[in-house]
Amino acid sequence: MGTMFRIVLYSDHSEQAHSAIRAAFNRVAQLDRELSDYKPDSELNRVCLVAIGHDTVISDDLYFVLQSAQHLAEQTNGAFDVSIGPVVRLWRRARQTKQMPDPSALSAAMQLVGYRHIHLGERTLRLDMQGMQLDLGAIAKGYAADEALRLLRGFGFAEALVAASGDISVGDAPPQKSGWEIGADSFKAPKDHFTRTLTLHNQSVSTSGDTEQYVEIEGLRYSHIVDPKTGIGLRYRSSVTVIANKGIDSDSLATAASVIAEQQGTSRALALIDRFGAKGVITAERDGRVTEGETKGSLP
Ligand code: AMP
Ligand code: MG
Repeated sequence: MGTMFRIVLYSDHSEQAHSAIRAAFNRVAQLDRELSDYKPDSELNRVCLVAIGHDTVISDDLYFVLQSAQHLAEQTNGAFDVSIGPVVRLWRRARQTKQMPDPSALSAAMQLVGYRHIHLGERTLRLDMQGMQLDLGAIAKGYAADEALRLLRGFGFAEALVAASGDISVGDAPPQKSGWEIGADSFKAPKDHFTRTLTLHNQSVSTSGDTEQYVEIEGLRYSHIVDPKTGIGLRYRSSVTVIANKGIDSDSLATAASVIAEQQGTSRALALIDRFGAKGVITAERDGRVTEGETKGSLP
């Protein structure tokens, strides 16, 4: 999935702990083979080639993640859209070449975007158009963190943390602690300084933003998160941190809220997070003015 996974757990039994960790990493590797769009032969990439026009049976993991993605796409009127793949690939190249995507290539890619062209049946997937490319980069890491954590708990190691860069899922609190202390960064923070510390147990936290992944072309910044309405990388700087019960939700909601914040402003983005029963904080900059907002009720 183009990232590193890290596992931390507390145990008095080093040997059992290591075999549990191995099993958890194996599960992550399996999900990588199923859900990654970086791997040419992942299930996701193979199925995009064969599911055009006919219902194709897919794995339980892929089905579960796509169901959740489609629900969020409907709830955000397509601000979150995993069919954005062809456009994301053009922006990935733009980050390497520091050149804007070719406008005709971009409009051709945009023809292939639209969550309504994704059809889920009973354990099946069908796509409407040849060339469609699904990209689970905004949701699969969170799900993988959940799954690794679930496995560790199954082995008897509930005091555990799984981190996939900006997506972190935690289990029970470490011994004698009320929770895992997690620093939540925003672009406003000086490097290596965390804006706030969250204390979490049995929850997930994700941060989306352009602090690391963006390209600057002719003095303008473009994020790796794309507005599916325009096909353009998000222009305004923002960091969105979401705390939810599951990583699959914190991950996808943080990305979705980033798009909504740019399209409709931060209060609409916070309302989305709230509607999903999650909590969040958004820092955004527009025309040199930095604003910060958070959902109702205190953050943990
Ligand atoms: P995250 O780092 O979780 O915010 O996810 C960002 C990644 O999600 C990007 O690198 C793309 O692979 C993908 N992506 C970009 N824009 C969107 C979007 N509007 N909806 C869903 N996925 C997106
Ligand atoms: Mg995300």
